[in-house]
Amino acid sequence: MTASALDLQGVARDTGARLTRAERDGLNAVLHWDQALLDAEASRVEQSRAGGPLRGVPVAIKDNIVTAEQPTTCGSKILEGYCSPYSATAIDRLRAAGALIAAKSNLDEFAMGSSTEHSAYGRVRHPLDPERVPGGSSGGSAALVAAGVVPIALGSETGGSVRQPASFCGVVGLKPSYGRVSRFGLVAFGSSLDCISTFGRTVRDAGETLSAISGPDPRDATTVDRPPIAVESMADLAGLTIGLPAEYFPADLHPGVAAALRETIEAVKALGARVREVSLPHSKYAVPTYYIVNPAEAAANLARYDGVRYGQRRIGPEGDIRALYRATRGSGFGPEVRRRILVGTYVLSAGYYEAYYRKAQQVRALIAGDFERVFCDGVDLLLTPTTPTPAFRAGEKTDDPVTMYLADIFTTAVSLAGLPAISIPAGRSDGLPVGAQLIAPLHRDERLIAVAGVVEGAIAGGAEVRR
Ligand code: GLN
Repeated sequence: MTASALDLQGVARDTGARLTRAERDGLNAVLHWDQALLDAEASRVEQSRAGGPLRGVPVAIKDNIVTAEQPTTCGSKILEGYCSPYSATAIDRLRAAGALIAAKSNLDEFAMGSSTEHSAYGRVRHPLDPERVPGGSSGGSAALVAAGVVPIALGSETGGSVRQPASFCGVVGLKPSYGRVSRFGLVAFGSSLDCISTFGRTVRDAGETLSAISGPDPRDATTVDRPPIAVESMADLAGLTIGLPAEYFPADLHPGVAAALRETIEAVKALGARVREVSLPHSKYAVPTYYIVNPAEAAANLARYDGVRYGQRRIGPEGDIRALYRATRGSGFGPEVRRRILVGTYVLSAGYYEAYYRKAQQVRALIAGDFERVFCDGVDLLLTPTTPTPAFRAGEKTDDPVTMYLADIFTTAVSLAGLPAISIPAGRSDGLPVGAQLIAPLHRDERLIAVAGVVEGAIAGGAEVRR
């Protein structure tokens, strides 16, 4: 991953050339980049002493992570042209590690979506088939890594938004345990779920990137007091037990996904792991539970876009404060964002709070309890498909929000439980990448990365999906 010793201005120029080509090809994965800024990044690293694996490596940043030098729009009209006065902790740490902040990548508006079709700035194309979606909501970052524009990227996970696009695009997507990476400077969506997460073409690349940004941060009180995540490796899986949760292998699983997972299971066995079927009976409630908790938190977090404090301001015809809110929010937010605010406000309202929000919190505890039980019962990691199908066609699910939400069926339970998980490429189905998901117990991020590294080396498909 590291550029050779080290023509940083050359790295900046090459990255610019690749970004230009990606734009010309119509990928629509980038919202902002600037050659002068890239050159300045290269000069900054030249003068720094940063060593380590990220020195001189260009990184794409999902455009809901704030950077003081470029706008941060969250893929929304309401933040068009908005520039943060500070950068996220993750950005400061990438810079301290010598990385070049190369581009801000396209996303579903405020990270709400599973296809990157909900961006106010147009949809992102799948690098292998422009008719298909790259997944979402971090589809821009996933597509840029898959297309070879940048080797690594940051995304954000609330319910699967890094693992799912990684699976669709044939790259690695790594979500840490909740609290291992600071959320300071990640635009809040579902605060009890949000995790900055990483993409790479290999487990090591995604792991080193996570390692660089992880660790406690006094500016985010939900970070846990543990050292940065270390990237470790393992020779084989001898002595480990891998659980296969029955609920994640339904009879109607897409045949290409089922075949890729069968091969992955065989590979895991060949590496010396014991494989055991287990049950996570409450995972079937993960999508409905997530789509109560998430909109509730989103509705609260998005109240700040009021036309006064941030971004766009529209003065309504009546000229009073209510008209300002109505006009600003009515024109600034797209349909999916409005839907979440409506659902979230409803489930938190006095008459429905007990029936929906409190119930969802209780089910969330049951979902997390299932994982705890299997991990206490001798299972070291779980293996599942990342998504129920390979990348779907653009437009296929945009008219039916519930079908779109079901694209997250294998990722949301993990998010509700706050666990670390990774999607690694596990082969192809009709030419489209399929991802396998590994899930580890809370704060076993190191073991997750080590196991994923061994499995990656053993399964078909490889990590390279370049054009
Ligand atoms: N697709 C899920 C949603 O729309 C997950 C989003 C995410 O992880 N940011 O909420």
